[in-house]
Amino acid sequence: MLGAIEAGGTKFVCAIADLNLNIIDKIVIDTQTPDKTLTQVIQFFSNYPIQSLGIGCFGPVDIDINSKTYGYITSTPKLPWQNFNFVQAITTHFSVPIAFNTDVNIAAYGEFRLGVARNKNSCIYLTIGTGIGGGVILNKKILASHHHPEMGHIFIRRDEQDKFVGNCPFHNDCLEGLASGPAVEKRWNIKPANIPDDHFAWDLEAFYLAQAIANYTLIFAPDMIILGGGIMHKAHLLPKVKVEFLKLLNGYFPIRSVDDYLTLPALENNSGIIGGLLLAQDLLNN
Ligand code: ZN
Repeated sequence: MLGAIEAGGTKFVCAIADLNLNIIDKIVIDTQTPDKTLTQVIQFFSNYPIQSLGIGCFGPVDIDINSKTYGYITSTPKLPWQNFNFVQAITTHFSVPIAFNTDVNIAAYGEFRLGVARNKNSCIYLTIGTGIGGGVILNKKILASHHHPEMGHIFIRRDEQDKFVGNCPFHNDCLEGLASGPAVEKRWNIKPANIPDDHFAWDLEAFYLAQAIANYTLIFAPDMIILGGGIMHKAHLLPKVKVEFLKLLNGYFPIRSVDDYLTLPALENNSGIIGGLLLAQDLLNN
């Protein structure tokens, strides 16, 4: 049996599947302290004879297998999880092969193998929610070196009308500081879900996201970019992003069909957990 953990900042999703990826059991646990949350995680997996485990975790995390702190959550602002050795906390209880990566990388991998990008050679998966992050699949592999990319913390051009200082604790007005769910809420003093569709907030959001997407396009030239996360649940936002994106590229970069190029995830909220199960399956096959 295969196990997977999608460890997010607000909730952990754990799943068990057979070797053909049919999900047998799944639970959702609130992210509290490592001690409280991991106790429930370990209890869940103890019920099944898992053979391998794929983990995608909120970051930053150390995914460099040669590093002394491999398997750790590193400089997260979530203090109880800072410098927490996630992989060891699991291997103490289960001596099975483990794939450890970021939450966005496993979501990218899920969409790449079984979701909307399944017939492509490359894709980028972005999540726009509590934070902004992205995973890149190039030549069918998750892009990573000594560290995973931090695609939410790039620097973009501000709209002149936007006087909001930004809310990234490291950079103020990086992409995440200007366009994450909490940034939108703080700027307009209203929850994003309650902002009307015709509010300028969404034009601004589309302008910022389009710049990031244009930058990723120019750097990686992926086959497609998938936009997930809570903010993208606003159905009118993606069409606005497409318009801004094409305006920014201004015909310089060939995009055959923007509707095929910029899409929502096909696996909806399961991109991550399915990506985790796929990594667990890869461990047994390779
Ligand atoms: Zn930042």
